[in-house]
Amino acid sequence: MSSDLRDLYQETILDHGKRPRNFGALASANRTAEGYNPLCGDRETVYLDLQGDVLQDIRFEGAGCAISTASASMMTESLKGKSRKEAEALFKRFHDLITGQNPAPGGPPLGKLEVFEGVREYPVRIKCATLPWHTMKSALLGEGQTVSTEAGAEASPREEPSDAAGKPRVC
Ligand code: ZN
Repeated sequence: MSSDLRDLYQETILDHGKRPRNFGALASANRTAEGYNPLCGDRETVYLDLQGDVLQDIRFEGAGCAISTASASMMTESLKGKSRKEAEALFKRFHDLITGQNPAPGGPPLGKLEVFEGVREYPVRIKCATLPWHTMKSALLGEGQTVSTEAGAEASPREEPSDAAGKPRVC
């Protein structure tokens, strides 16, 4: 990674980590999901106002590290007004970028999200960066359960122990 991109990465993460955009509950939400990354302690709730096939509005709230907060903040900016298909395609491209796989040609442009390429240099942070995206996808699917980055980990104290099996594996 060039030093320019590294500077931009740090600047952007700090900015969005400190002043997250689209932060707070969404009154018009008709889909929500919770995400939890026990390795870092990140906890986020993603709210979607899904109108037909379009993410009319998207917000999030929760507490996490700078990377998970910045990732959620930039995700909401990137996905507002997008179709479900576009959102899923962007997630795939984002995931490919930060895990170091070459994104397939012809996919949607990542725009500002490209700064997350810097996460590659910090492998333990990949789950922090992808948590909001996995949570968004769970909200889209309407699964209504907590997404954990660690399968089998205790995802939420509010969850019944009987729900522990069959939790989707993340990352
Ligand atoms: Zn984190």
